[in-house]
Amino acid sequence: MDHPSAGLAELIAAHGVSRRAFLQFSAAMAGALALPASFAPRIAAALETAPRVPVIWLEGQDCAGNTEGLLRASHPTVAELILGILSLDYHETIMAPSGKAAEQSRADTMDRFPDGYICVVEGGIPIAENGIYCTIGGRTFKDIARATIDGALATIAVGSCAFDGGLPAAKGGPTGAIGVKDLVPSATLINLPGCPMNVQNLTATIVHFLTFGEWPATDPSGRPLFAYGQLIHDQCERRAHFEQGEYVTAWGDYGSLNGWCLYKMGCKGPDTFANCPTARFNEGTSWPVKSGHGCVGCTMPAFWDQMTPFYRRLPTPPPFATDVTADQIGLVLVGGVAALSVAHGVGSYARQRRAASAEAAAGGVATMEAPPAVEAPATAPPPAAAPPGPETPTADDKGTDR
Ligand code: SF4
Repeated sequence: MDHPSAGLAELIAAHGVSRRAFLQFSAAMAGALALPASFAPRIAAALETAPRVPVIWLEGQDCAGNTEGLLRASHPTVAELILGILSLDYHETIMAPSGKAAEQSRADTMDRFPDGYICVVEGGIPIAENGIYCTIGGRTFKDIARATIDGALATIAVGSCAFDGGLPAAKGGPTGAIGVKDLVPSATLINLPGCPMNVQNLTATIVHFLTFGEWPATDPSGRPLFAYGQLIHDQCERRAHFEQGEYVTAWGDYGSLNGWCLYKMGCKGPDTFANCPTARFNEGTSWPVKSGHGCVGCTMPAFWDQMTPFYRRLPTPPPFATDVTADQIGLVLVGGVAALSVAHGVGSYARQRRAASAEAAAGGVATMEAPPAVEAPATAPPPAAAPPGPETPTADDKGTDR
């Protein structure tokens, strides 16, 4: 693999990033990957000698929300990300060339680095009417995407539309939108669904590859376990209010003003796997539930159809025994929702009972070429937090305005 240059440390120094900031970034990545802090020096050492990896970033049926997330990345900043870890050779929204020159940039990268570049796909891929609903430079997006993915070292699907078609694939959509996994089933694929994805998860995924020489362990939907291995409900700062039957029942009510649980306002946290409560957005400032809005389940399959209406609460859970786990609650709550969700919930439940090494194996790690390869840890997600005390028998009408 002939990469454009080597030595991330040299690049970082050249761009005025301090050693202290670099080590802080390495520590933050260890945390993001659910690794002990002791892995931070190993990550730093690996990144210092890591080559820049060419990236082709494709956009199909998208709103550019994931690109917005990239541009607002704080760990690292976009400059560090582009100039340091990645060589973003093609990105329609932010690249300087346009028209034929832009398309030539993509072709040049594919020619120079066969099987050596990462393809990032943002947006759905329309296949109805032979793909005419999205064309670029006279070619259908599905043909461009297939060719680029076929020649890539690996593909990362960012956002829910690249995951499974997202909004364009919702009921009534005429374009026949699909995600990367359905366009190129044989692709080495990491899925980072979300609307948008959290750029910290993209960065951590690439750092894992550069550090350990393999992609992080994933669930059956191709989502990294470090980011999608736990229910939002299990990590939520409002969980204690759920347990106490303290719910927001109207926007602006007492519970709303005091951070009570948003279950009755339609929060899908009990059925959604993601690390939003811990990774958060905007430099770790907040996430939807913290800001007062329920989770809409945007990291889950077909969420536009399966998780709507967004403000209708999940089915009332039946009484639980005191030793029932949170994951089991999640399964019961969503009984009729997406089958994939249930499969994931079962996997998560089982993971609590398996050793970390078995978890990594079950997650389907994609092993690939990457320097420098060092021993990979068992990148299983941290064990799910034990429910804080006895489960509340029901989330029905205990909570009222007070
Ligand atoms: S229902 Fe939503 S707001 Fe309530 S604890 Fe669960 S994730 Fe948090």
